[in-house]
Amino acid sequence: MSIDHNLYAGGTLDRVSALRKDEDWLAAKLADPRSRLTPVWRNHSLVADPDSDRPRLAEPPVSVLDWAELGAPAPILLGLEGETAWFTLDLSALEQPETLPGLAGQGRFVELRSVGARLPRDQASLAAYARGLAWWHQRHGFCGVCGTPTRSAEAGHVRLCTAPGCGASHFPRTDPAVIMLVTDGERCLLGRQPRFPPGFYSTFAGFVEPGESLEEAVIREVLEETGIRVGDVRYHSSQPWPFPSSLMLGFRTRALSTEIRVAPGEIEEARWFERSWLRANRKSDSFSLPRFDSVSRRLIEDWLAEG
Ligand SMILES: [Zn+2]
Repeated sequence: MSIDHNLYAGGTLDRVSALRKDEDWLAAKLADPRSRLTPVWRNHSLVADPDSDRPRLAEPPVSVLDWAELGAPAPILLGLEGETAWFTLDLSALEQPETLPGLAGQGRFVELRSVGARLPRDQASLAAYARGLAWWHQRHGFCGVCGTPTRSAEAGHVRLCTAPGCGASHFPRTDPAVIMLVTDGERCLLGRQPRFPPGFYSTFAGFVEPGESLEEAVIREVLEETGIRVGDVRYHSSQPWPFPSSLMLGFRTRALSTEIRVAPGEIEEARWFERSWLRANRKSDSFSLPRFDSVSRRLIEDWLAEG
């Protein structure tokens, strides 16, 4: 098993799930001046020197903000780094949280995708974790069963319906999506969606549906989007992709047929690319591939490195 994690994986926190229900322990950690905070504001993360080569997450103490007075939801426990507890706090209700005492001068709220590849890997993972949880809380204020307001519990890792007759538990959501490189000997299949920039090609991807295995999702997606039948589906690696809530599951698969029939709408074009051509043309004025920090690019690069 490779330990060369994809970006946004590779976090170093102990998630201490068993301690999330311990309210005395949580209260002590929230009051502890050593406990740190990575705040989220409207899906942005607080980053020090975000425009530099070496940005870092701001790490204010959690005790600097009176979250209840600010009208923010309760802090969410992310985990422990040694004895240091890490929390996130959603400050979306505020207009300019960067100017709050305790946060002023610490950094700027930026979109994680603009800075994630330059952050230290463990911090990119921490920010992705915080962003994903904050987004889930924003979108799950009401019970999906009965429509009554929910409340955060277990340090932010569950939301409970407040209706006495319902009481349903709602857990943070992660949507599995498969992403796959289709190969045919010395060729691989890449495609374009209409929204892509000119000359940009990527692997194919799609969400897993209920009642479907990952392998079946790979086979179905490739067939739907390109008309190509595939088999020999092999797992490659995964990537948390909390933009807003996906888990990308990367696969390699071999083509069993080669005639492309693109489904109109979702895919604009699908093409076979020779390995030797791709090696020599990774980027030019008229051709580009996904960013190096994506599992899509890693699938392509690992294949290019073979043979
Ligand atoms: Zn309910």
